[in-house]
Amino acid sequence: MRHQSSHSRKSWDFYFMDIAYMAATRATCPRRQVGAVLVQDRKLMGSAYNGAPAGVTDCYEGGCLLVDVYEKNAAGEIVQKQHCIRTIHAEQNLILFTDRAQRLGSTVYVTDSPCWTCANMLANSGIAEIVYHRPYEKDLEKVSRLLQEKGIGFRRLETYQPPRVHSERIGD
Ligand SMILES: [Zn+2]
Ligand SMILES: [Zn+2]
Repeated sequence: MRHQSSHSRKSWDFYFMDIAYMAATRATCPRRQVGAVLVQDRKLMGSAYNGAPAGVTDCYEGGCLLVDVYEKNAAGEIVQKQHCIRTIHAEQNLILFTDRAQRLGSTVYVTDSPCWTCANMLANSGIAEIVYHRPYEKDLEKVSRLLQEKGIGFRRLETYQPPRVHSERIGD
């Protein structure tokens, strides 16, 4: 049996991002799977994913709950898109399921950079830093400005590679 040499030991950043990706496998919307974890002093304080409220029909059972939205594309044109609004976002669930004392000075690792609403909530949640992997381009610029104004760290793990996970749907 081969052992990895010590220089290839996983960094804390990659370790916690792996866990965020694992949490994302529990997401209940096929359009988007986001996972987030809360880390305080290198300890895992909570994990969350985007999903419908417990006990309520989710996207796998009832289909996505789509609404039309209008967004500017890269060329500055207004385009119509559809968003699924059935789920509570991972970052929001993370706030719902942790205590403020656990969030003070903590880091949120999240698979995707937060949307505007989540960033706004995280800015008021006591956390000190947000680390993400995939950029959510639509809100990235204004989210970045907000977090800078608030003094919350915001960085992307550029060289990170998510673990390969097989998706197997289970019934709960
Ligand atoms: Zn959905
Ligand atoms: Zn969000």
